[in-house]
Amino acid sequence: MHTTALVLFSGGQDSTTCLAQALSKYQRVETIAFDYRQRHHVELEARLKVLSEIRLQFPQWADKLGQDHLLDLAVLGEVSETSLTRDTAFKMEQSGLPNTFVPGRNLLFLTLAAAVAYRRDLQVMVTGVCETDFSGYPDCRDDTMKAMQLALSLGMDKRFLIETPLMWIDKAATWALAHELGEKSGVPNGGEALVNLIIEHTHTCYLGDREHRHPWGYGCGTCPACELRARGYERFKA
Ligand code: ZN
Repeated sequence: MHTTALVLFSGGQDSTTCLAQALSKYQRVETIAFDYRQRHHVELEARLKVLSEIRLQFPQWADKLGQDHLLDLAVLGEVSETSLTRDTAFKMEQSGLPNTFVPGRNLLFLTLAAAVAYRRDLQVMVTGVCETDFSGYPDCRDDTMKAMQLALSLGMDKRFLIETPLMWIDKAATWALAHELGEKSGVPNGGEALVNLIIEHTHTCYLGDREHRHPWGYGCGTCPACELRARGYERFKA
């Protein structure tokens, strides 16, 4: 029986939903993120705000929410040439992958997360990766996750479980999942509260836009991440 989890928590819609699910399932939950000199520090600020709002608005979850880990991963900016770490515009590459793809990023994240989970005695690692996303990042695919689970479990001689609650659902279903988890949280109108928390405080936009407020939250409204989030929200509300 698993009782403890480490959530890879970036401060976006997906990882916030994963965090809510972990808090509804496990007794002790810790969070981890990586600073690899993203163009926008907005995400790192958003995640602290989301954590404090969860503690404030969901007292039962607050009791289970433990330490937050932020690891410096500046080296990733040194080895990659992408629109997330350099000042280049978002575009699709000939490979069919967007230029936001940082080769091996997720593999590194999981390896470091496992090292922290080992030290903190956390059994499950939760990540918001999704195969149904537009991006098709190969290091977010189900087979990659299963291979990582095996490699990390063998390599650290400790049985890790990598949990991917969003792997096969789309963005509308992710909004719906957040609503459902909020409803079950014990907080009156918790579903609406969690959806509103995600709208107000999570950050997804590639351009780091926190000026333009839409029904689904803040963002430029036109980058692929904003479009995905907006379309999902519209279908969730329909
Ligand atoms: Zn955007």
